[in-house]
Amino acid sequence: MELRTLASGSSGNCTLLSHEGAHLLIDCGISCRRITTSLTACGVDPNSLSALLITHEHSDHIAGLATLTKKYSLPIYTSPGTARQLCYRMAGLDDLLRPIAPGDSFDLAPFRVTTFPTSHDAAQPMGFTFQAGGRKAAFATDLGVVTPEVLSAVTGAHLLVCESNHDVDWVLSGPYPYVLKRRILGEQGHLSNEAGARLALSCIGQGAKTVLLAHLSAENNTPAHALMTAETILRAAGVDPLRDVTLAAAPRSEPSPLYEV
Ligand SMILES: [Zn+2]
Ligand SMILES: [Zn+2]
Repeated sequence: MELRTLASGSSGNCTLLSHEGAHLLIDCGISCRRITTSLTACGVDPNSLSALLITHEHSDHIAGLATLTKKYSLPIYTSPGTARQLCYRMAGLDDLLRPIAPGDSFDLAPFRVTTFPTSHDAAQPMGFTFQAGGRKAAFATDLGVVTPEVLSAVTGAHLLVCESNHDVDWVLSGPYPYVLKRRILGEQGHLSNEAGARLALSCIGQGAKTVLLAHLSAENNTPAHALMTAETILRAAGVDPLRDVTLAAAPRSEPSPLYEV
């Protein structure tokens, strides 16, 4: 499999996963125009997309959905709760929605997709893992907390897209109102750099070779800070972040390099 993020962070999330000429998009939180421009720049014809998978209904994950589905009529795989939310907000989606209960698996040839519930303040959020060609990629962002379901879902992944949203001290000392701070740091908010690094470490312990830190906050994080925190935690556990794994932070507003899974 090949994975690249097209955008990552609170201003928009979209990831492309490809294998044997099949292409999926995970979330579409940037404009349809940006998605098609990025795909074309990556050498992928937007008409060759086979499906869209949506983690949850927050606008940084669905901003491009209405235009994208109008133009390309893609089937949308998401949880029943997210599907209901999308129907409330957008007309004409009923025929495209393919609700999948969190925890269920399905075939989307050549991929085997498995979903898992996540703890986040949306209707029924979920994450995804993808298996193809004997390899596994896991996609885990927008996690208030790492639950046993998340841990067991990402086990055995060769590549992990892992939330690394904020530095806890930066949030606490920053200008956000108390309610927003409590939301970000709460069990249905976002994963801190440290918590994300611990999730990555457990995945590396099970054989993961590539970790892409994702969904970085623009206000409460920087790519360098997220990477430094992860490197420190990996080193303390005996993992050399330069030699043993490929560790990178997904760029906020342009496509990442291509990662082979
Ligand atoms: Zn969200
Ligand atoms: Zn988000």
